[in-house]
Amino acid sequence: MRLQFVGCGDALGSGGRYNTCFHVTGRNVNFLIDCGASSLPALKRLGIARDDIDLILITHFHGDHFAGLPFLLLDAQFTRRTRPLVIAGPEGIETRLKQLMEALFENSSKTKQRFDLSVVALNPLETRSFDATKVTPFPVVHGESGGPFLAYRVEAEGRVIAYSADTEWTETLIPLGRDADLFVAEAYYYDRIVKNHLSLKTLEAHLPEIRPKRLVLTHMSDDMLGRLDTLAYTAASDGMVVEL
Ligand SMILES: [Zn+2]
Ligand SMILES: [Zn+2]
Repeated sequence: MRLQFVGCGDALGSGGRYNTCFHVTGRNVNFLIDCGASSLPALKRLGIARDDIDLILITHFHGDHFAGLPFLLLDAQFTRRTRPLVIAGPEGIETRLKQLMEALFENSSKTKQRFDLSVVALNPLETRSFDATKVTPFPVVHGESGGPFLAYRVEAEGRVIAYSADTEWTETLIPLGRDADLFVAEAYYYDRIVKNHLSLKTLEAHLPEIRPKRLVLTHMSDDMLGRLDTLAYTAASDGMVVEL
């Protein structure tokens, strides 16, 4: 199994990085985690076949994680996709997706897809299986608007991938990432403590409890991007592949 960072940027375009979108593929799985506004061009740039993607997991309704969906759905119409697609995310996703599609492409939410499209709401701590992909959402803390906020622990092909999503420190990140083969964690700032986002120093203090087998930092601000050469951790970059 492999995870490719299609985009690992924040909402502000820091470092010229694409918005959040990770592509996970294996023998039996092909899914995205998040689909930020810039995801379609980012997927095309990497030559990723969108029609092979079976599942898109959305962590929350901020544009840098969610706003790529209308473009992807439009693209699927033009490529005459036939393969079913599941989009799963926090409660309210069906309404949010309709609103987003109408805002970006009027009447597009009323267009009947040529393929089976299921939009599925996920509840915190309720594990759901989508074919060979087992998904457990964990509640995280990321402010007042754009939620509910979910982090995901995903099991497939004998491996565990955990993604913190956007969040300030919360104890749920411990079971989320514990012993994961890959823990992708937000590190927005280096040591600045702010509401709604995670700093590397805070995350670092908890790593002995989380014990991920591999850690990759993502969703970094300019503050963090300016320090990449001095970090003791692996930081994501657009296009980077992690083999699992
Ligand atoms: Zn974000
Ligand atoms: Zn966010």
